[in-house]
Amino acid sequence: MRIDNMLALVKDTARDVPGVYRMTSAEGEVIYVGKSKALRTRLLSYFRAQYPRDKGARILREAATLEWEPLPSEFAALLRELRLIKQLRPRYNVAMKRDARYHAFVRVSRPPAPRFQVVRGAGTDETGTYYGPFRGAIQLEEALRELNDALGLRDCALATPMFFADQPDLIDLPSRTPGCIRHEIGRCLGPCIGAVREQEYDDAFRAARGFLEGAHDAPVALLRSRMEASSEALDFERAAQFRDKIQRLEALREQFARLRFALESLSFAYTVPGVNGDDRVYVVRRGCVRLEAPAPRTAAERRAIDARIVEELEAGSRGPRTVPGHEVDEVILVAGWFRKFPKEMDRTVALAPAHASRSA
Ligand code: SF4
Repeated sequence: MRIDNMLALVKDTARDVPGVYRMTSAEGEVIYVGKSKALRTRLLSYFRAQYPRDKGARILREAATLEWEPLPSEFAALLRELRLIKQLRPRYNVAMKRDARYHAFVRVSRPPAPRFQVVRGAGTDETGTYYGPFRGAIQLEEALRELNDALGLRDCALATPMFFADQPDLIDLPSRTPGCIRHEIGRCLGPCIGAVREQEYDDAFRAARGFLEGAHDAPVALLRSRMEASSEALDFERAAQFRDKIQRLEALREQFARLRFALESLSFAYTVPGVNGDDRVYVVRRGCVRLEAPAPRTAAERRAIDARIVEELEAGSRGPRTVPGHEVDEVILVAGWFRKFPKEMDRTVALAPAHASRSA
């Protein structure tokens, strides 16, 4: 489709309603996906791009076809855009960082010697394990540093080679990792220099995960047992170090609780008025839209939606406390939407056990 033809098509048929659009190259590759609450106005703006180096002008020059899909609301368009981008990965779309600066996650790296990393979105690691979202990446990084120090977890580059004490092939074991003194000053168990068995490191890491989840006090219990063992061995200096770490962890517990965004608060049925009465209800559980359906108009339709909500509640109660990588961007989108439009919370009804009794 020539640019003139695309312009004529937009002028003739596009309406100012919410929706998504996509541009496809002559080879059939979707090169860009966008959304707008006023499709016609947005699409026409591409044809007014003033400078050839403008991103819009460059996309348009490469595009052979331009298609759009009207949707009932801006929220519907935002959601569809995200899902299309994740599915098609158009090369002109940058990562979905729109609201990421407000919401940080903690990513769990893979073994051996897993470590925590503060990230602002899932990036390309859609299969990873994430905690969050948390408010304030900088404070979160500081709190994590304390947690790492208290439990002796590593915070070095992921590619750093690991050598566990129980590893059979400890050849060429470095006596010290260049540039890092954390083990020497008692802040890392030293999985890079064979100073710790793999199981011991994993126990410390598991304790830290429980602490992050707010699930239990295992890190404190672990440190307390180490403190007592040090006391019994008359190593009072080491026992005092453990006592200090316990105190820091207890302070940290409060800090994580403040930073932790109440993901459970993003669990509700959200009714969104749509264009021409096309109202939709979105069942959101832990920040992800699990169901989209026309808003019920009859008692029977309401019962059907309620039954789905009950299913979601039951699925949620079995789910883990982590956020799967493929849901991170959607959690950020939903949290960002209600952060930007807090009045929209008035249209939500919490997913509560009451739904179960109502639909029974
Ligand atoms: S002591 Fe070794 S494992 Fe620990 S942070 Fe430093 S380089 Fe990483």
